[in-house]
Amino acid sequence: MVKVKSVLKTMKPYKPGKPIEETEREYGLHHIVKLASNENPYGCSLAVYEEMAKITCGFELYPDANATSLREDVAKKWNVTPDQLVFGNGSDELITIIARTFLDESTNTVVPTPSFPQYAHNAKIEGAIVKEIPLLLSGDHDVEKMIEAIDDQTAVIWLCNPNNPTGNVLSEDILLETIRRIPKDVLIVLDEAYYEYIPDEQQYDPLPWLADYPNLLLLRTFSKAYGLAAFRVGYGIGHPSVIEELNKVRNPFNNSRPAHRAAQTALRDTEFIEHCREMNEEQKARFYTFAKRHHLHTYPSATNFVLMEAPTKDEEAAQFLLERGIIVRAGHLLGVPGYMRITIGREEQNDLFFESMELLIEQNK
Ligand SMILES: *Cc1c(COP(=O)(O)O)cnc(C)c1O
Repeated sequence: MVKVKSVLKTMKPYKPGKPIEETEREYGLHHIVKLASNENPYGCSLAVYEEMAKITCGFELYPDANATSLREDVAKKWNVTPDQLVFGNGSDELITIIARTFLDESTNTVVPTPSFPQYAHNAKIEGAIVKEIPLLLSGDHDVEKMIEAIDDQTAVIWLCNPNNPTGNVLSEDILLETIRRIPKDVLIVLDEAYYEYIPDEQQYDPLPWLADYPNLLLLRTFSKAYGLAAFRVGYGIGHPSVIEELNKVRNPFNNSRPAHRAAQTALRDTEFIEHCREMNEEQKARFYTFAKRHHLHTYPSATNFVLMEAPTKDEEAAQFLLERGIIVRAGHLLGVPGYMRITIGREEQNDLFFESMELLIEQNK
């Protein structure tokens, strides 16, 4: 046998949901509603389709390794300097790059749990010790315990805000106070994959903090609100010295040329994002009304998904919905057994979800 890294013996490859086409064939369905991966149910800016149609040549060329044009646009948008940005093949890849850059056998890292699994996953591959700190009952990060867990060997602490899978967002006060209390030699990764979805009254702007906290690194993505998950573009905003280290590890051609153009085009369509935010809030309210009526516990979501108590075992509920053409994420897969994570869909998609849920609840009375 080949000599695999010993840590991999304890790990499993990511288990994606079944492809839509296969599920349709298996259950004889014609119209599947996928509410499992927090993709944007309204698609993306139409301008992206127009822009993509203009790409007719240049496929033999490598993309710009520096993402110069996209970099300028994102820098302008957030009023940061271009050297404060790093682009990844999705923020997923940035998480891998961060782990490769900062973690090894001599370090440890602090992560919330349940949260986005890639933080712990990549840290383990690098041989770092992972200190998993359970969320509070409210679904918020237990920032006190997370700070307590930091020691001299801690290299990275991860904050997922809003948190996937609970949807909770930390208040600006708590977040800033947490950042203030973390030692300056510990990298703070603030994963803001759902930043664009945070409702007005809970919004905060972390960009000014970068001036005081050079150990702060924000992660944003074009995969969620911008609706470009297929293109795989995420980015980090941080101190140029941190960015430079990440760039030593980053593969040079990690975004495709069409992906750069798609992201640039999507970035300009602020109206689309605004529209999606409004629709999402409107539809989200329906989930809370439904849950309340049926006495199903939910966490307060600042995102485009809701973590809702399942009326039966979560794998049974997910299977019941699947057989009716609705794909949700069963909680046991996310570290929250008894719950389901449902992406907030379009009105008619949510109608289907609620109808099937009514049936399931009726059957289990
Ligand atoms: C979806 C998601 C990401 C990854 O997004 P990419 O498509 O890789 O950019 C990162 N963090 C969280 C919390 C997510 O939910």
